[in-house]
Amino acid sequence: MKRSFNLIALAILVACASSNFVDVESLGIPIDVRYATTNNFMHEQLYPIAKVYLRAPAARALADVERDLAHEHLGIKVFDGYRPWSVTKKMWDKIHDPDYVADPAKGSRHNRGAAVDLTLIDLRTGQELAMPTPYDDFTSRAHQDFNDLPPEVIANRAKLRDVMIKHGFEPLPTEWWHFDYAGWQRFGIENVPLPELERRTPGA
Ligand SMILES: [Zn+2]
Repeated sequence: MKRSFNLIALAILVACASSNFVDVESLGIPIDVRYATTNNFMHEQLYPIAKVYLRAPAARALADVERDLAHEHLGIKVFDGYRPWSVTKKMWDKIHDPDYVADPAKGSRHNRGAAVDLTLIDLRTGQELAMPTPYDDFTSRAHQDFNDLPPEVIANRAKLRDVMIKHGFEPLPTEWWHFDYAGWQRFGIENVPLPELERRTPGA
């Protein structure tokens, strides 16, 4: 256990010294990148590779979330992190609704590598815990204050929200799966393609 934590610390250190982006999988966190498939709200493949990167401080905080949850045999599964600006533009050109996608004129916090979409899993089975909706379900049922739900689902949503807040993330009122890393403003909007980040990030 100690050894893997040391490796995680090393991965973060290397990232800080180079590209400032960390490959979330290098922290031992599972990913499920729907935008690298056609199984997403756009019904088209938006990312050429299934990769999740976050700015180093956000990645470090997410590793703390994972470690904290492990005491309860729980873990996280990440759907998205850094998103190149051109992908936000593509989403906007098709959907053109600020309730569903970010206006590229302002950019998304995902474009800054400072937002993460995720859910909880049971570490013993790898199964996702029951949540109010599937990922990217843009209905009021996905809102943090929607409570016409089974008590277990409300508790699971609260568990995710509480542990994320504890480690420096801020929930989004309209999407139970989305969290912004506090201080996201200090990270600029980027348009580096994911394969380019993969080349830049050692050990990824
Ligand atoms: Zn998001």
